[in-house]
Amino acid sequence: MKLIIASNNRHKLEEIRAILGEHFGEILSMADAGIEHETVEDGKTFMENALKKAREMAEISGCCALADDSGLCVDALDGGPGIYSARFSGVHGDDEANNDLLLKKLEGIPDEGRGAHYTCAVALVYPDGRTLTAEGYLYGRIGYERRGTGGFGYDPLFYLPDRGCTTAELTPEGKNAISHRAEALHALVRQLEGKG
Ligand code: IMP
Repeated sequence: MKLIIASNNRHKLEEIRAILGEHFGEILSMADAGIEHETVEDGKTFMENALKKAREMAEISGCCALADDSGLCVDALDGGPGIYSARFSGVHGDDEANNDLLLKKLEGIPDEGRGAHYTCAVALVYPDGRTLTAEGYLYGRIGYERRGTGGFGYDPLFYLPDRGCTTAELTPEGKNAISHRAEALHALVRQLEGKG
């Protein structure tokens, strides 16, 4: 069966292909499938946004569609920026400005107050409307300065105390092994295999 991913993000596609590859004959990005579409992400939760994106893509493509919605939730910011992670600083997708603003908002806050987690919600919608959903999390804390060049988004500031490094200092394989997106996708696979 063909699966369309409601995204053109290279990082996400690679991760999704690696985990869901054996469950679908073909996994295509929107660009691969020749589809241009932007969902208005007006949900109040990660899951509402993931469901909306997957439902619209299943409807448009007539195929099975998968969407995810993810973000960073910082304890000291009452769970923010949350669903607004990509546009925290006002400009959608400006990672540098988002990280600068995050450091500024946490100025003067010690380790104990810098707890944070990434959340990822995934939704898989079949053409007949049947739907599977799952969530995954990665816990850590916000560092005081950028470290590492891997990953994307908030990774240079997302410190993993157990490992003594940020998620930007992990290899792609190392990050994929522990990421919120991988956890959500593995939970989805368990449901596809009837073990979830
Ligand atoms: P979206 O799921 O594409 O809407 O991404 C939301 C935003 O959350 C991204 O633009 C990043 O700022 C942030 N984000 C989500 N997952 C990660 C991650 O694995 N590392 C760093 N930032 C992330």
